[in-house]
Amino acid sequence: MSIKVAIVGSGPAGYYTADALLKKFDDIEVDVIDRLPTPYGLIRFGVAPDHQNTKKIMNAFEKTAMKDNVAYYGNVELSKDVSLEELRALYDAVVLSTGAGNDRMAPIEGIEKKGVYGSATFVNWYNAHPDQRNLDPDLDTESAVVIGNGNVALDVARVLVRSDEEIAETDIPDHVAEKIRKSPLKNVYIVGRRGPLEAKFTNAEFRELGHLENCVTVAEADQIVGDPSDLEDEREARIKEKSFELLRQYAENKPGEKDKTIHLKFFSSPVEILGDDTVEGIKLEKTEVKDGKAVGTGEFFEIPCGLVVAAIGYRSLPIDGAPFEEKSHTIPNEDGRVEKGLYVAGWIKRGPSGVISTNRPDGVAVAEHVAKEISDGGKDGGKGLEALLKEKGVRFVSFEDWKKIEKAEFDAAADPAPRKKFVTVEDMLAVLEQ
Ligand code: NAP
Repeated sequence: MSIKVAIVGSGPAGYYTADALLKKFDDIEVDVIDRLPTPYGLIRFGVAPDHQNTKKIMNAFEKTAMKDNVAYYGNVELSKDVSLEELRALYDAVVLSTGAGNDRMAPIEGIEKKGVYGSATFVNWYNAHPDQRNLDPDLDTESAVVIGNGNVALDVARVLVRSDEEIAETDIPDHVAEKIRKSPLKNVYIVGRRGPLEAKFTNAEFRELGHLENCVTVAEADQIVGDPSDLEDEREARIKEKSFELLRQYAENKPGEKDKTIHLKFFSSPVEILGDDTVEGIKLEKTEVKDGKAVGTGEFFEIPCGLVVAAIGYRSLPIDGAPFEEKSHTIPNEDGRVEKGLYVAGWIKRGPSGVISTNRPDGVAVAEHVAKEISDGGKDGGKGLEALLKEKGVRFVSFEDWKKIEKAEFDAAADPAPRKKFVTVEDMLAVLEQ
């Protein structure tokens, strides 16, 4: 009897786990379930729209998805269309790889004001996530502030300053592209509460800030403090030295050399969002880094702006029927094992960090646990799930269906855009009615 495994969440962690399971077992059926008709989670809705090369990992996941013993059930929401309890009754093992798709908001006074967004919300908006199709942020401002010094902060800043030609090469949906094109934005401030030595962004992404058609990136020479060679890890030290080289180049640039300017502001901790109901600026405190921590100096300054994006990390939400660790926003587990028959992979397992391939070992760990613990098989699996969904009137989207939706996206794209994404689930499902 083949072993039946359900994986909830079709992002990188989901498909790496499917792949690892296929490699481990000869006789297995793997069903990947996703809330949306579209597979690949973060690859579609998180990876920046101007990073189409990164999105090519979809091709590898597609190979896994198209194997005979792998099925896709899109448009099926856990806890709404099917419960975890029901899945556990239908499958020998259930893997939760639902990611961390929610905002982590900074504990700053006034954070709830209009014009302030968490990065999950904002990134989903420009990546055509159906949940954020009506977000409609006001970009009618000359200045925006992005809080955070991670790769997501750089993504957000870059997307905001892209030129018309650069946008045309992305899959940013038309309504978003139109807003960015019309925006009078001149200045984007990327503010980090610690210094360049502690910044989390990676060099490839940092280097990109120096190659923007319409925008110059400017650093402040007196903020290039700290010595990368002090870092204990030699590899880390070499990487940081490259980042400092870039910083020194950015410090040579002048604001206004191009139409738009990205200002790198380190040692700046956000304190308060200014304005009545709507953001008019942000108050920050200058900091020093002591023992690796940002410590306020008591000196404050303000940046007037009409948009703030807090790119300070993501957050997972609890899942009915699974334990949850409130502090880390993860499901408590031992290297991916929650208990016999229930496993986790990706950001819901270990928090929102790492690159796409960081999820691969998570999948391998799950496959090891399943191999050790599950041998009997014999549950209904996909057949049972389909019967249940039919009974509940849920219109699930198979992988074949998804390929039809995707073809419609390719067909609708205007050269040189790679695809024209559907923005609503209704529009995606309408393709399947034709
Ligand atoms: P991240 O790398 O963890 O960066 C979060 C940033 O927010 C840090 O600079 C952090 O500063 C800051 N922060 C946290 N709390 C704050 C607060 N209360 N006030 C001010 N600043 C605060 O997270 P991310 O940028 O969301 O990225 C998530 C993961 O996805 C990362 O592993 C990232 O590398 C990855 N990613 C990769 C790519 C790529 O490879 N191109 C693109 C996007 C994302 P402290 O360091 O001081 O805490």
